[in-house]
Amino acid sequence: MVHPMDSIKCDVLIVGSGLAGASAANWLDRLGVKDVAVLERLSPGQHRRYHSVCGEAVSSRMLGLAGVGTEHSVRDVDVISISVNGSEPSKVRVKGHVIDRNAMIEGLLPSFARRIRGRAVSVSVTEDGFSVETTAGRISCRSLIGADGAHSVVRRDVFGSRPEFMVKAVNTLVPGECDNVLRFSIGGSGPSAYSWRFPSTEGMNSVGFVKGEGTVPEGVPHGGRCIPVGRVPEVQRGRCLLAGDAAAFPNPISCGGIGAALVSGRKAAEAVASGDYQGYGRWVDKSVIFDRRFMDAFHAVSGWTGKEAQDAMRPLAGYVGVPRGMAAMIRRPGYARVYMACWMAFRHGWRPPTDAPAYLHVKMEKI
Ligand SMILES: Cc1cc2nc3c(=O)[nH]c(=O)nc-3n(C[C@H](O)[C@H](O)[C@H](O)COP(=O)(O)OP(=O)(O)OC[C@H]3O[C@@H](n4cnc5c(N)ncnc54)[C@H](O)[C@@H]3O)c2cc1C
Repeated sequence: MVHPMDSIKCDVLIVGSGLAGASAANWLDRLGVKDVAVLERLSPGQHRRYHSVCGEAVSSRMLGLAGVGTEHSVRDVDVISISVNGSEPSKVRVKGHVIDRNAMIEGLLPSFARRIRGRAVSVSVTEDGFSVETTAGRISCRSLIGADGAHSVVRRDVFGSRPEFMVKAVNTLVPGECDNVLRFSIGGSGPSAYSWRFPSTEGMNSVGFVKGEGTVPEGVPHGGRCIPVGRVPEVQRGRCLLAGDAAAFPNPISCGGIGAALVSGRKAAEAVASGDYQGYGRWVDKSVIFDRRFMDAFHAVSGWTGKEAQDAMRPLAGYVGVPRGMAAMIRRPGYARVYMACWMAFRHGWRPPTDAPAYLHVKMEKI
């Protein structure tokens, strides 16, 4: 870590060393861009605590798209199970991992990267780039990647935008047997109440819920943060790019944002290295990862009653593949856009091994 200084100049500044920032730094390094600095507000201990608040589940497909290996996987997962109000769960075969997120971040950050400890306070646009006021002094850079999470200062000052919605989520680790299933429960105090239980390291499960829909027993260490959904309208302005939660990239249906953070960090680095900054905006607009239909489904589900949630899931009890999903769409057209968004999330995020018929691939292979 570099410590407080008066002013610093660099070619590329990445604000935030979470998964998006670490992925961007890693790819800038791989692509030969050397004059890069990474600004992080948290001390190493605080950083580890911050990033340990997470279910840490990510699909193999997203790791592949991000060019990230599986060496930081602590468990392979092969099923996602979703249950509404304790009813028989719907299960989908998937290919994914629970990762050690802290180890992944450290593994991605190039060892020689200039890491600056300080908080970005404000950002202004200058003639030849950006000037970032930080608690460690002023940093001038030609290109800027905002990877500073849900409450991004880069987004606020350069783009003046905010995510459509902030989901407050809590996570904790509890002892228990582990298998290879990611379990989601919908219902409880309302149809949008949502909790999960993921296997973690041996003998531990990661349990989380949308805040207000559960309680953590006293004395059990836990943490909470906001997950932004409903991506911001613009992710590129001049030589400034937003990646990960700063751009509200998490999937509104699952609230998963690890894959999107890693992939967008990579794409942002590629745009900086090639000088095609607008290409990053075009990629985001076209990519199925950020399809508007996910947010439409989020709004639809948020308005459901408990009865509607159960009614929507009933035809999908047990193992679900494409034929049953399509049959449900035909039988219950009122829920079709939610079924479609879920199918897209599985198909393009989690890629179940049972492949859809070729005609369903046509417009979807746009990642
Ligand atoms: C409880 C919970 C559970 C989750 N579980 C999952 C899951 O199982 N699977 C999944 O895919 N997603 C999950 N997510 C979402 C996922 O954690 C995020 O989408 C993802 O980590 C975003 O990464 P990021 O790098 O964009 O942002 P962050 O991880 O938020 O990293 C941002 C970094 O920037 C730093 N920073 C912020 N502001 C400044 C500043 N002003 N100056 C300098 N540095 C700054 C922060 O300290 C941090 O290190 C979960 C989220 C929560 C809250």
